[in-house]
Amino acid sequence: MYPDHTIQEIDQILAKSQQAFYQYKNTSLKERANFMRAIALEIEALGEELIRTAAEETHLNEKRLYAERNRTIFQLNSYAEAAERGDWLEARIDVGNVAATPPKPDLRKMLVPLGPVVVFGASNFPFAYSTAGGDTACAFAAGCPVIVKAHPAHTQTSTLVTKAILAAAKKCQLPDGVFAHIYAADIEKSAYLVKHEAVKAVGFTGSYTGGRALFDLAAQRKQPIPVFAEMGSTNPVFLLPDKLQKDYSWIAQQLSGSITQDMGQFCTNPGLMIGISSEALELVVKELTENIKEVVPGKMLHKGIARNYVNNMQNAISQRRVEVIYQSDYKMGEEDGVITLAKVGAQHFLANPELHEEVFGPYSLLVVCKNREEMLEVAQKLNGQLTVSLMGTAEDLTTHETLLSVLREKCGRFIMNNVPTGVAVALAMQHGGPFPATTDSRFTAVGADGIKRFARPVSFQNWDNEFLPDELKNENPLNIWRTVNNGLTKKIINDK
Ligand code: NAP
Repeated sequence: MYPDHTIQEIDQILAKSQQAFYQYKNTSLKERANFMRAIALEIEALGEELIRTAAEETHLNEKRLYAERNRTIFQLNSYAEAAERGDWLEARIDVGNVAATPPKPDLRKMLVPLGPVVVFGASNFPFAYSTAGGDTACAFAAGCPVIVKAHPAHTQTSTLVTKAILAAAKKCQLPDGVFAHIYAADIEKSAYLVKHEAVKAVGFTGSYTGGRALFDLAAQRKQPIPVFAEMGSTNPVFLLPDKLQKDYSWIAQQLSGSITQDMGQFCTNPGLMIGISSEALELVVKELTENIKEVVPGKMLHKGIARNYVNNMQNAISQRRVEVIYQSDYKMGEEDGVITLAKVGAQHFLANPELHEEVFGPYSLLVVCKNREEMLEVAQKLNGQLTVSLMGTAEDLTTHETLLSVLREKCGRFIMNNVPTGVAVALAMQHGGPFPATTDSRFTAVGADGIKRFARPVSFQNWDNEFLPDELKNENPLNIWRTVNNGLTKKIINDK
């Protein structure tokens, strides 16, 4: 429907982004925040047309899409507020002293924007992790222009959101190069974008294959750039013995809802469950299966995702000693999600790397351990994860201390008696974990700390107050929190 941009057009677009950067990086925190709030209003003004378009393109129901749109608006507004609050700037001031021996230089450090950012959104979040999603909002807050590569699964939705962003840019009198939207079904064009010298960072949400490919391309550039790729995760849920005994019915209910929500098409879907063989574990499996049988399978996002899911799921269940516990009916080639529960013994899981891979869709594998030692071995062998969940009582926690310590190294979000689906947009959220869950576990893709991905520190040494950025001036005109001589304060500095 939308022809790909040509390489010449991409060059022109990126030249405009670079030009826009020189203007946009000098906007005040307030101006950036106003821009983001204006985008939120424009998106809201798209009303039903936006929801209808996304529903047609993704098979997601309108209720879910309204919720996701509202979340996107909330993200824009809350990151705008965070941008203005300025904590993300990490302003640090060590006031100089010429009388000291040796003289102490005056040092003032803050984060500054990196430059134009290319964003690749995901198919499963047409709003919140796409055109005006978290990466775009964070880059705007940091002071970077954005170039979005339209996702082929929801190009029309992306085009509508682009109109909203450009209308907001116009209202805020920003150069239109502050945002660009590129159609590039040809993978080579995406590669060209990542390798372009005007581009200074990449935000990616999607598969491991895609994220890894773009990360490698960026690393091979003459001037390598960071790629913040949020990729797949199996989000293991550890079922500890005392909790299983006491609460198996509740656990089964939580897990069935989480595994099947939106046909499992979440990066935080619980794709692995780990328990120690016991009567209570069997009861959980029985109830989980009964609950899941009640769920009517819905359509997956698009044919490609449905096909990939069936292939990956079939590959997983054909592995040695994997037993299917339950599978919903299906015919090859249909787009309905095939809800599948399987199980395997811990030693077979440990010996087979294929079983550690994400199967994106309504699938979960139960790993049955003989004892606590085997459970620990499974934990030690896990890949890096976005989340790890524990179902446990206080007694479980005291008797599994080593397990807790091992698991904390594996994830970005460590969850207690809760399921991994549902990622709150909050400052204390960490959405990013050790590789291969993400390419840089030091950063988050959700929450205002994500702004820091698109900025770098610069230290100003011995500058006269009047020439310093407002953020670092003695009088603190923006009234932001700064670390002055090692203490966090909003106070003005009387002496330079
Ligand atoms: P995807 O197939 O990797 O696509 C994401 C975007 O990257 C698309 O625009 C795609 O364009 C592009 N792309 C993929 N491979 C590429 C390559 N080799 N070179 C250049 N561009 C490439 O992912 P998806 O199907 O949209 O989403 C499903 C996956 O996303 C799941 O694995 C899920 O776990 C993950 N996910 C992760 C998070 C998170 O926060 N960690 C959130 C949501 C989803 P083309 O299709 O045109 O190639």
